[in-house]
Amino acid sequence: MARNEAILNLKAILVRRRDALRSALAGDLSLLKELRSGEPGDVMDAALDSAQDEISSQLAEVESRELASIEHALERMRDGDYGLCEVCEGKIPMARLNALPYATICITCQREIERTGLSAESLREEVEMASDEEEVDVS
Ligand SMILES: [Zn+2]
Repeated sequence: MARNEAILNLKAILVRRRDALRSALAGDLSLLKELRSGEPGDVMDAALDSAQDEISSQLAEVESRELASIEHALERMRDGDYGLCEVCEGKIPMARLNALPYATICITCQREIERTGLSAESLREEVEMASDEEEVDVS
């Protein structure tokens, strides 16, 4: 019960964050357009412009990656899978979800992904294969 309520709170946080990111991204795009339509100045201006351009696009990249993670988490909420690890299907502890509301992978699997360099998807396949083997061993 407490977990469901906590998840509803997180949903509100995620929706707010998503809307904020969307407008930030819209703002960044207009900024990039402004930089590009400007008359070319001297070399220093050009260097500054390109540096600024790079910073904005890096920022936009981080923001759109976060936005994608948030959309993904909200999708899982709609499907009723939110809070379950995408790899091992275990419950992700509330403490982790509170710290990172768009986390869809538990800490153990996240560490495994970082250690092996595998994607969540290939790691899940490995976990599934390993549990199939266990079942065979048991029977
Ligand atoms: Zn996991």
